[in-house]
Amino acid sequence: MSENNFKFLYQNVDKLKGIGPKKASYLKNLGINSVLDAFYIIPTKVIDRTQDINFKTLEKGQVITTILKVKKHRPPFNSRLPYVIECTKGNLIINLIYFSVRGNFLRTKYPDNKEFIVSGKISFYKSNISIAHPDYIEELENEDKLRSFENIYPLTRGISIKDIKRILNYGKDYIDDYPEWLSVELIEKSKFYSFYNSIIKLHFPETKEDIEYKEIFRKRLAADELISNYFAIRYLKEKTKKKEDNLNLHYFSQGEIVSQLPFKLTNMQINTINKINELNNSHYRETILLQGDVGSGKTIVSLLTAIPFINQGYQVAYMAPTEILASQIYENLQSLIKLDEIKSVLLTGSSKNKDEIYKKISDKDFNFIIGTHAIFQENLSFNQLKYVIIDEQHRFGVKQRLTLGEKGINTNILLMSATPIPRSLALAQYGEIEQVILNERPAFQKPIITKVSTSEKIKDLINYLKKSLSDKNQIYWICPLVEESESQIYKDVESRHKSLKKVFGPEVGLLHGKMKSNDKEKTISDFKSGFLKILVATTVIEVGIDNKNANTIIIENAEKFGLSQLHQLRGRVGRGSEQGYCFALYGSNITETSEKRLKVFKNTLDGFELAEKDLEIRGTGDILGYRQSGESLFKFVEVTRDQELIKECFEYVKKIMKSKSFEDKEFQKKIYLLLLFFKQQQAIKLLFS
Ligand code: ADP
Ligand code: MG
Repeated sequence: MSENNFKFLYQNVDKLKGIGPKKASYLKNLGINSVLDAFYIIPTKVIDRTQDINFKTLEKGQVITTILKVKKHRPPFNSRLPYVIECTKGNLIINLIYFSVRGNFLRTKYPDNKEFIVSGKISFYKSNISIAHPDYIEELENEDKLRSFENIYPLTRGISIKDIKRILNYGKDYIDDYPEWLSVELIEKSKFYSFYNSIIKLHFPETKEDIEYKEIFRKRLAADELISNYFAIRYLKEKTKKKEDNLNLHYFSQGEIVSQLPFKLTNMQINTINKINELNNSHYRETILLQGDVGSGKTIVSLLTAIPFINQGYQVAYMAPTEILASQIYENLQSLIKLDEIKSVLLTGSSKNKDEIYKKISDKDFNFIIGTHAIFQENLSFNQLKYVIIDEQHRFGVKQRLTLGEKGINTNILLMSATPIPRSLALAQYGEIEQVILNERPAFQKPIITKVSTSEKIKDLINYLKKSLSDKNQIYWICPLVEESESQIYKDVESRHKSLKKVFGPEVGLLHGKMKSNDKEKTISDFKSGFLKILVATTVIEVGIDNKNANTIIIENAEKFGLSQLHQLRGRVGRGSEQGYCFALYGSNITETSEKRLKVFKNTLDGFELAEKDLEIRGTGDILGYRQSGESLFKFVEVTRDQELIKECFEYVKKIMKSKSFEDKEFQKKIYLLLLFFKQQQAIKLLFS
């Protein structure tokens, strides 16, 4: 039974023979936790071991497979030199080379005058044609087995192609030929093969055709992925569509609070609030995406739209991606929104007396809950939760959003994205969603000045900073790494913190994700209060930290970051009345693409425009901010290449929902397998509960 086989596909790879816990921990870097995850990885290229070889035009790096005759063994005189097996091919000499060989096993294994079939990469050692550490040496009768195509996958430290293959080979037996869930039109239009053929041939190509069709296989799987995603989202929407009544929200105190704010809302903000009010008061359960560039003042907009819910006796939850950000929002709420009816609480992973907080939430002693994803723990039950605000939504996956929907079936959701999402991507990710755009930035009185230069200029920069540092100019200093690394390609905050302390003294603080949350909070409050003048940090500050006196940001190894991320970082400064500056420094290993990207960054201050350009330069890019987790939004979909497909799949799912064919048992069975394959557990729970 197909369904039972998923048990094996969902299995953690550390249990597999030949993998074990250590390799499993490395495999996480590739996004592989379970057996199934390996199937989500698209092979980067394929080695063709079937080719006939022209020995006159051999090139370095070329992979060849050929029959060689062993002529003689030349063990090295000293251990630093390689062991050479001299072989012949006609009257050509080809050497097999081994470094750090111990003992005599090569001589016994490959005796003189015997022929073998050898496959490996060509190099030239002392101007002889050589193959260093061949991929395979096989007896001649195994030639058929060897003369084949072989996929190459992206790798990481401690993991070889063989490990990936081991996992794929294991999983292969548990993938079945499922009944077709795509429409005939979709299949015919793109000339798709079955799901089974596509996934198996993508990973186990056997013929030239299999190689040529790789893109069609990928695209078919992209369609499957899109459909599973849309279906999960749409189904949730369907299930939760109709409210009993409209919520009867009113806006008296919202208006009153606006008039008491320490600043005047921009017209853009007011319009946005009105639009969101209207959606919130409709007869449907709404998911609203509020897109606004860094500094467009989304926080206050979202908090204000929550007021009518509180007035009406409902609960509101606000979810932020980090504890730092959650507590900042909590402070914002307390200082900006003066309303007696609000009983707010901050709930994060490190909150103490959680049980008490949980109880008070379910008793409605708290009605405004601000926190990290800790607020969606299984054993926390809300009491008339009607509005959920999710800040920096790109940090949360579809899964988390679905869990959330379950918590309060009639809950309106306001997603806020500071990393503007191009339209095509928004459609790809959410399917149908109400979009509200806030496109003006009150937080920036003056456009930030951006300078890009090599890290060799760092001394000059420090001299300049010495002069410019003052109460009105605090500094963020960003490095990509936390600790010093072996390779030393990228700078780390710890050693930068040390070296800046030597120059600037005790006013230099340190902030990174590995610190305890108490220490983090203390550092941030010391920075906000002005006690610390320079904050050396990793990208933990990227999301939403607000300090009006910070006007300069230095980003080391700027080449390592995506455009949108750089824009986020830059958005930390220049939020007050002073001029903001951003210095992006790049290392000596910068690639051409990165150079291009930094140029665009320097010249473009608009986040939406940057997001579009990021998409252009890097394909799917890291626009949605999944880079650290190694988890990407899609496995098979290439957003730029698949625009047409995205629309078609979207239409297909819409049709299914409209015709109610999802209520048909046969169809459900099929979709169930599709959802299992793409791990849409939450949707499954809803659909089959
Ligand atoms: P983002 O959209 O990036 O989340 P924030 O909500 O953090 O932006 O707002 C950035 C800063 O601008 C905050 O300090 C906020 O108090 C301030 N702000 C918001 N709206 C206005 C406004 N209309 N006038 C002046 N400052 C504002
Ligand atoms: Mg924000």
